[in-house]
Amino acid sequence: MTASLDGILARALERPRNLSVADLTRLVSLEDPEERRIVRAAAYDLKCRIAGKLVSMRGIVEIGNVCAKDCLYCGIRRSNANLERYRLSIDDILRMAEVDAKAGYASIVLQGGEIESEANTVFIEECLRGMAHLDLGVTLSLGEQSEEVYRRWKAAGASRYLLRIETSSPELYARLHPADHSWTRRVECLAALRRCGYQVGTGVMSALPGQSMEDLARDIVFFGDRDVDMIGMGPYIPHPDTPLASEPQTLNNAGRLQLGLNMIAATRLYLHDVNIAATTALQALAPDGREQGILAGANVMMPNVTDAAYRRRYQLYAGKPCLDENAQQCRGCLERRLAAIGERVNYGARGDSLHFKART
Ligand code: SAH
Repeated sequence: MTASLDGILARALERPRNLSVADLTRLVSLEDPEERRIVRAAAYDLKCRIAGKLVSMRGIVEIGNVCAKDCLYCGIRRSNANLERYRLSIDDILRMAEVDAKAGYASIVLQGGEIESEANTVFIEECLRGMAHLDLGVTLSLGEQSEEVYRRWKAAGASRYLLRIETSSPELYARLHPADHSWTRRVECLAALRRCGYQVGTGVMSALPGQSMEDLARDIVFFGDRDVDMIGMGPYIPHPDTPLASEPQTLNNAGRLQLGLNMIAATRLYLHDVNIAATTALQALAPDGREQGILAGANVMMPNVTDAAYRRRYQLYAGKPCLDENAQQCRGCLERRLAAIGERVNYGARGDSLHFKART
């Protein structure tokens, strides 16, 4: 017999990591609107107790779309020739960091394709040193690197690193990537980041072809076993110029959104005090997708602060929102959207992971 929903919620709220794979599978696969409402309300209530009715912002700068990887789902994969490649200059990045600081977000994410080279390592070090005076919480999302590189970037001022495992299933990972991409190396990178003292973030995509509900439940257990501080995850959305887009898709966009929201709620209920982002992919699926993410238990948003001129060239998936907006427009829009659900932007606060604070 499967456990009752009330029983699962009661156990989840008792303490973190108090649910089985079967419980999590049940939460992730919920389809009944009333049951979803109950679970998301419980997750949102927990978010409010932990983080208040506040959403922490990290402006994201998409620093370049040059990538050595060839992930079968990603719009900026190396083999996509239908894409003009770009790399922002240091001056551009520092200008966007100033926009972020002026917006009051107090944190920033530098994200881009994966490049492993000494020149790139030095470039990022210079960016980090150049923005030190802005006193921002800096997250890097620049893929797999050696522990030495992670250490250098930490010394240069980065305090958080986001590296999605993409899926905790090595078998599924192998089906989504070319043979020379290694799930094991990604796990080792997460361990290296932790040794370097970062607030460590990871995450997965949901609604991937060939992914089961139990895979997703095991993803959430993986987050707990790795004791991560931050979660950034969202639904997979096909990109027309990628091999994976031609595989049969099991869910439409409405289904993808609901699954993404179920994942957020289940992750909040399982991990309690981690930072969870309501990612842009949710907004690609519904105009209020990110607000729905907050109401399902997320407490972080990552508004795009990249110049509108570059946004079109950083499309990881189809239907990326806000392509023609600038950072100022996004700021006003987000503020209004959050006010409409009774939440406020946590201006001026870095919004460090409470889980990180508790474990260090
Ligand atoms: N190269 C960096 C970050 C850039 S990609 C890294 O490896 O960490 C950032 C994230 O976008 C990826 O981790 C992946 O989970 C997500 N992504 C890529 N393609 C996507 C797609 N088609 N749909 C949804 N998310 C996607």
